[in-house]
Amino acid sequence: MKTVQHKDQEVIEAVIRKCDICFIGVVDQENKPYVLPMNFGYRNNVIYLHSAPEGRIVDILKNNPNICVTFSTDHELAYQNLEVACSYRMKSKSVVAMGKVTFEQDMELKREGLNILMEQYSEKKFEYSDPAVRNVLIWKVPIDHVSCKEFGAPHDEYKMKRNIEELKKGKNPAAEA
Ligand SMILES: Cc1cc2nc3c(=O)[nH]c(=O)nc-3n(C[C@H](O)[C@H](O)[C@H](O)COP(=O)(O)OP(=O)(O)OC[C@H]3O[C@@H](n4cnc5c(N)ncnc54)[C@H](O)[C@@H]3O)c2cc1C
Repeated sequence: MKTVQHKDQEVIEAVIRKCDICFIGVVDQENKPYVLPMNFGYRNNVIYLHSAPEGRIVDILKNNPNICVTFSTDHELAYQNLEVACSYRMKSKSVVAMGKVTFEQDMELKREGLNILMEQYSEKKFEYSDPAVRNVLIWKVPIDHVSCKEFGAPHDEYKMKRNIEELKKGKNPAAEA
């Protein structure tokens, strides 16, 4: 098993789409890190998030919009020797994306942002009332830089190719191994 860096955009998007939450990392006014779990949506290289209009995270972002968004999926504990702690590892795939947050102001674009978020979690179509849309903050993060790593990928070339193909189809090769 080894660690593989994926550059293929389809693979990166497949990893993002398999996640149910992300972790956002920011740096506050005192230069301290602040990391939160958040729900998200993704479309065309842009991450969509939503929040209440006020709170610590919003105060931080208004001062410093730089954000790091981390996704991780397909976690599976594996080991080479049951008795040797150093041989244990967590098979997984993760994506680390960097960008700057902008807050959407336009009501229709906010609705679109909410739809993109909901698409991550449901196939249902939703309507949003004007007060609900006014009271939610929609964040957009165009991705400036992204990296994707697969931990515990099989050494075998053939298996790895098959793994990537299955990921693109939205399957979890780790769960089926
Ligand atoms: C799985 C999951 C998904 C979530 N998805 C969303 C989402 O899509 N949108 C959204 O707005 N929020 C979401 N939350 C909540 C989010 O993590 C924050 O709690 C929320 O955004 C408020 O952040 P804030 O900095 O404004 O909080 P504030 O209330 O201003 O923070 C005050 C203090 O509370 C503590 N705190 C804040 N959040 C957390 C936390 N999650 N866990 C422990 N301590 C905390 C911190 O120490 C902080 O200094 C989610 C939480 C979980 C667990």
